[in-house]
Formats: sequence, structure tokens, C-alpha cells
Amino acid sequence: MNSILQHDLNDFGNILEKTKKQGIDFLNNLENIPTSNKNSIDYSRELNELGLGSLAALEEFNERLAPLMVASSGPRYWGFVTGGSTPASIVGDWLTSIYDQNTQAVKAQGGVSALIEFETINLLLQLLELPKSFLGGFVTGATMSNFTSLGVARQWFGKQSGKDFAKNGISEKINIFSATPHSSSIKALSMLGIGSQNYTTIQTIEGNREAIDIADLEQNIKSLNGKPFVLISSAATVNTADFDDFEAISKLKEKYNFWWHIDAAFGGFAAVSDKYKHFIKGWEGADSITIDCHKWLNVPYESAFYLIKEQHTALQIETFQNSNAPYLGNPLENFNYFNVVPENSRRLRALPVWFSLLAYGKDGFRDIVENNIALALHFGNALIEEASFELLAPIRLNNVCFTLRGDHNQEKVSQFLSELNDTGKVFMTPTVYQNRKGIRASFVNWRTTENDIKIVITEMKEVFSKI
Ligand SMILES: *Cc1c(COP(=O)(O)O)cnc(C)c1O
Repeated sequence: MNSILQHDLNDFGNILEKTKKQGIDFLNNLENIPTSNKNSIDYSRELNELGLGSLAALEEFNERLAPLMVASSGPRYWGFVTGGSTPASIVGDWLTSIYDQNTQAVKAQGGVSALIEFETINLLLQLLELPKSFLGGFVTGATMSNFTSLGVARQWFGKQSGKDFAKNGISEKINIFSATPHSSSIKALSMLGIGSQNYTTIQTIEGNREAIDIADLEQNIKSLNGKPFVLISSAATVNTADFDDFEAISKLKEKYNFWWHIDAAFGGFAAVSDKYKHFIKGWEGADSITIDCHKWLNVPYESAFYLIKEQHTALQIETFQNSNAPYLGNPLENFNYFNVVPENSRRLRALPVWFSLLAYGKDGFRDIVENNIALALHFGNALIEEASFELLAPIRLNNVCFTLRGDHNQEKVSQFLSELNDTGKVFMTPTVYQNRKGIRASFVNWRTTENDIKIVITEMKEVFSKI
């Protein structure tokens, strides 16, 4: 063994102790760590011939890189839709690295890890009150979940006219409908060879809405004259957290032949609360659903899952099978994750979620979701009371879409936001909504409190007074 490696092996306990202590210091100080950092690094560092050993590498990391880390898992990082990491999720994440299982087949090396993934999906179905007719698996994010789901939808579409697109390529136009798809679904259409422009935009409900206008959808369906199509619907759009009407879509499903996908990356968590589950009523009728865990479940990146109805498993295997190697056997008999997802080798990505669900239960996640929504409303009300801000859309869930009050201030929005983000006290994301420049604050983090809103409003007033 290389002597440096040997030394590290002998010193394992000490190395991990130091790392643990550093982790505790960071996490316990998260509130005071800036949410943005303008400093950069010179990344031309040369690779040394002789290794430094873990502790010297840690020293260099602490000198050069650690000071640049931002508190994106802290209570005032409201950019994008960003969760944090709870204690239990970090336990699961650490142990995922420590046990380092390759999560593929049930009957293979690391086999129990595939069963842990089954168990975790089963727990998630209970959390979200979804039926067992869905099978699921973990991927790195909602983008890959949309990709996986729409990949199976693509195969389904071909099969409607007896074609196997996975084997022979796409040989006809795939009809795709959506009203306000997330950019990642469009990216998935590009990656799947369908084409990012090859979808029909359905109108949204009139007024301040991003949800599908069901009458317009039905018009478009009728113009297909009975041909199949794929519907990409939304459980919470990113700007205004708007939901499509899933009960109405379920009714259409009784009349027409289509694959129904729901991007519920964060909105799916409305299901954990009696107050908000009406938003997702009827979603169990979908063929596939995308849900992120590194958002509202507050586990570390990269964690999301897909849910696809069991009746489509054969199509899913046709799309993703890796079983050209003969020793792998019949993919339907010997379930193996690498025949149903894009990746082959996979870490035990379910474990942080498994720990979180056991540690905090339904009640814990209901509290996170309801607290975050209450905070969004609280922040929205605070904005309304200030003369300088206005809401761009009503607050339906956990996202607040607002701007500087008055059209004359439109040109100042970008400067305001960049100066606000530069304070390091809060981070928000720019957006454009109904042709107006806006700002989005998303409440997803389990640590956020009313005091954070106070801090942010004070900063916002201060920054606005200076621009
Ligand atoms: C965040 C998000 C995505 C993309 O998720 P990643 O985890 O970043 O891949 C897709 N859809 C919606 C609605 C989202 O909010």
C-alpha cells in the first residue's frame, strides 16, 4: 500500500473526528455564515506528485475553499427552491458514504440497499398518501426524474402505434402538451431527442394564473382526432406555485388516451397537510410523478425520486435496460435498478430520506411545510405593508413573487436584488412574471423563523433607500 494511504488508514479515527468537529462548527454557525460570497479561487492549482494525506488536504481546503462556502442550507437562503439538511438527513448522507453500497439489484452485491430503496419509496408513498400502484426509485434531482418519466412516456407513445422508439429511434412526431412546464422538462425533451421546441403550449387560466386552461386543453386534444399524446402538468410552478386541476385532468383521462406526467418537485408536499392537500386532489391518476427530496424534504443534494405506475414497468425496462450483458438475466424476473433508471452504478441515495422519515415522521414534515407556508404569507404581508414593494401574484403556497412597486422602478429591480444578495444576509432569485421583472423568495428550509423575516425586511428597506 502507498505509504500516505497507509498512514491515513492508521489515522482514520482521528481524520473523521476532525471532519466531524468541523461539520458541527459549520452547522452550528450556519445562521451567521453569509448567503453569498464574491471571492473566487484560482483553480489552476497543480496536482502534486506526492500526496499530502487527508489532514493536510483538509488544511488546504480550510485555507482556500471553506471560507468561500455559502449558507445555502441556512434559514435565509430563499433563492431557487432550496432546502436545507436536517440532522437525520446528514446522518443518512454520511452513512451512505461510509457503507458505500452499489444500489442495483436485489440479488447482487449490496443487494439489501435496493430493498432499503424499496422500503423508502414505500414510506414516501405513505407520507404523500399515494397508492402502492406506483413503483419508484431515486435519481439525482427532479430534472432526472422528469427525464426518466418522460423517457417512459416516449416509449409508451411509440407503442400506441406498435413502434419501439427505444430500439429503433423516434420515427414520428410525439404530441406533447403543457401550459407552464419547468425548464427541466424542456431540457428532458431535448435530451430525449424529442426536441425542446416540439411541444404545444396550452393556454393558462385567465387572470393571474399559470395553471392549464382545461377547456383549451380539451380543444387541443380534439384536434388530434384520437391520436395519443403526453401531458406534462404541474404541481406548483416555480414562480407562483400554481397547480393544474388534477381532478379535471383525471376526468379527461377517462375519455382520451394519453400519458399523464406531473412535475411535483416541491408542490407534491402539499399532500402532507390537511390544509393544502386539496391542491393535489386527483394526482394519483397520473402515470408518472416527479418529486424532489433535496427541496422540501430537506435532505442534502442529490436526491429526488420518480413514481411510475407499475403497469408501465415493462415500458420502463424497454427504455432503460442495460441487460445486453447475458449474466444479468431476464430484467423482469430479476429486478435491477440499472434496468429502470439512467444510471448504472448508484450510491444508496435513499438512506438520507429513510433516516429523515423515521426521525421526524409525518408530523415533522407537516410542520415544516405548514411553517414554511405561514412564513411565506407573513413575508408577503410584510411586503404589502412597505411602500416600496408589491406582490406580482397571490401567495398560494411557499413562494413569494414580488417586485419593486410601480413601473418606474422596473429598471431598478436587478440592481436592488444584486445589492440585496451582496449583503450576504439573504439570497433571492430574479424572475420575470407576466412581462415584469420580479424577485422570488421560496420558503423551503426547516430552520427559517419569523425573526429571519424581520432581518430580511430591515435589509430590504436599507438597500432600497440607497438605490
Ligand atoms: C427544482 C425543480 C425542478 C428541477 O429540479 P432539480 O432537482 O434541480 O433537478 C423541476 N421542476 C420543478 C417544479 C422544480 O421546482
